[in-house]
Amino acid sequence: MDIILLGPPGAGKGTQAARLQQTRGMVQLSTGDMLRAAVAKGSPVGLKAKAVMAAGELVSDAIVSALIGEHLDEAANGAIFDGYPRTQHQAEALEVLLADRDRKLEHVIELAVDEEALVERITGRFSCAQCGASYHDRFHRPAADGTCDVCGAHEFKRRPDDNEATVRTRMAEYRAKTAPILPFYEEKGLVRRVDGMADVDSVAKAIDVILGG
Ligand SMILES: [Zn+2]
Repeated sequence: MDIILLGPPGAGKGTQAARLQQTRGMVQLSTGDMLRAAVAKGSPVGLKAKAVMAAGELVSDAIVSALIGEHLDEAANGAIFDGYPRTQHQAEALEVLLADRDRKLEHVIELAVDEEALVERITGRFSCAQCGASYHDRFHRPAADGTCDVCGAHEFKRRPDDNEATVRTRMAEYRAKTAPILPFYEEKGLVRRVDGMADVDSVAKAIDVILGG
């Protein structure tokens, strides 16, 4: 069961991928991680990639394909592709890689988010400066304003990247990355959308329904 998992930062993609690895023995194949590992290990593909990157060039599709090929056999119970493919050319290359191994992509699951709701969810987060307890401006305020429910401290902090501009930039980057491949997979009838704004358990259930047994 090979799938692509898509979702912008904040949609819970990492959480769901980790769960699928645990419950189904699937393996997440992230090109960024595989590339770093190959370079660190000094594998033939890693050495090639290292030379290309040292020259300040982008790693070619051929190198990425070789990398995926090296790791596909490890994912005997199914691969979760993350951050790949990014272009239609790569999507076609992936079909070949899988077909060579009598495999095929079963689903492209997108954790869809509502941008306005995501902005509200992320920018409202804050936490106690002393004990780290999490709060939210709208969804979970301390019982007494300005006082931590857990430890009684009066100081709170916000993560600097939990701001609207950052969230919108990340969403725009995500759209730019997925725009080239979604039509390709839509046409094949492989795209399934799951409400990424739902709670973690509901998202997990929805994904399990798609994957079946
Ligand atoms: Zn506290």
